[in-house]
Amino acid sequence: MHLSHILTHLGEDREQYFNAVSPPVIQSSNFVFDNIADLRKKLSDEGAHHIYTRGNNPTVQILRKKIAALESAEDALIFGSGAAAIAMAVIGNVKAGDHIVCVQSPYGWTHKLLTSFLVRFGVSHTFVDATDTKEIAAAVRPETSVLFLESPNSKTFEIQDLSACAALAKQHGLVSIIDNSYASPIFQRPIEHGIDIVVHSATKYLNGHSDVVVGVICGRKKMIDKIFASEMMTLGATISPHDAALVIRGLRTLPLRMQRSHESAMQLVQSLRKHPKVEQVYYPFSPDFPQYELARKQMTGAGGLFSVRLKADNIQQIETFCDKLQRFLMAVSWGGHESLILPVCGLYHVAGREDPDLPWNFIRFYIGLEDPDWLWEDIERALEEL
Ligand SMILES: *Cc1c(COP(=O)(O)O)cnc(C)c1O
Repeated sequence: MHLSHILTHLGEDREQYFNAVSPPVIQSSNFVFDNIADLRKKLSDEGAHHIYTRGNNPTVQILRKKIAALESAEDALIFGSGAAAIAMAVIGNVKAGDHIVCVQSPYGWTHKLLTSFLVRFGVSHTFVDATDTKEIAAAVRPETSVLFLESPNSKTFEIQDLSACAALAKQHGLVSIIDNSYASPIFQRPIEHGIDIVVHSATKYLNGHSDVVVGVICGRKKMIDKIFASEMMTLGATISPHDAALVIRGLRTLPLRMQRSHESAMQLVQSLRKHPKVEQVYYPFSPDFPQYELARKQMTGAGGLFSVRLKADNIQQIETFCDKLQRFLMAVSWGGHESLILPVCGLYHVAGREDPDLPWNFIRFYIGLEDPDWLWEDIERALEEL
């Protein structure tokens, strides 16, 4: 299906709503049955009908169709956050006694799901250096049921060989799940490599405007039906119809935003690599990235996230650099219109927290939609402080 068709027309049944170009926000919790026969018919297959918005809502349904098509999946579910989507996808595929093999440094709350939540229900895990598929194979046990991938991750960007991981999962009867937030379906479609389930923090690129927290799960219809009927209906974490309409609106420009962020990041990465105050740049599409070949093989772009380590004698110099930047906002998250920095130095010496594993001269950049030359002026000016 053509990307333009998906983003502009798919799922939009305009005759149902006065031929309006933009879909209405069906802000209703419940839907009326015509009569007893209708009630019986609809309750016998909740997934296929509009009964209650925790399950199905017409506005959310438009978004489901678009997201599934973007990931070459049969169906998709939408949740109130990426963390909820990840939890539902994992919980939906384990039982007490099972074991999960997971990439070494997944998103923080994915880590927490395994280490402090699922262990309470008798589900164990092993974190592996998944840049080497052999390490994954070595960690698989008879009771392993899920292989959890995140490629690339969102700070240091380690990559897994998706086709090899999918083959390995099939061989051992594991359900393979990937967090595809970094690349977005514009630059990477894991289901086409044989991965079973794709999850996203749609808060990032898919919505793209830093105004909604939302998550998605994509996969085969049978698997999606199962998660719908159990995890989603029991645990909730539903997205509101209004938020779904905002994400549909965000999707209209997804390819344009991805291309812009990618091109601007490429330009800034090149300038940073040449700068004498820069020790190292981390970006999957930079030729010195350790897994550059693999990145080029399975992704068609790398988007707006990269990280740098700066040359500095002490943490104060890095702090000054960060505070001098005027055209970047300092914030968590990424994937919106606005360029951001997340400096690791700010995570040192925080009351009640352990110091991070990453060095204090490490800074993650997200490049949004601003003019890259205008952003570079700001970086160059701040680098003079070092
Ligand atoms: C932000 C993020 C999440 C969590 O998504 P929320 O929408 O914030 O719940 C999961 N994975 C990655 C890679 C993320 O960046």
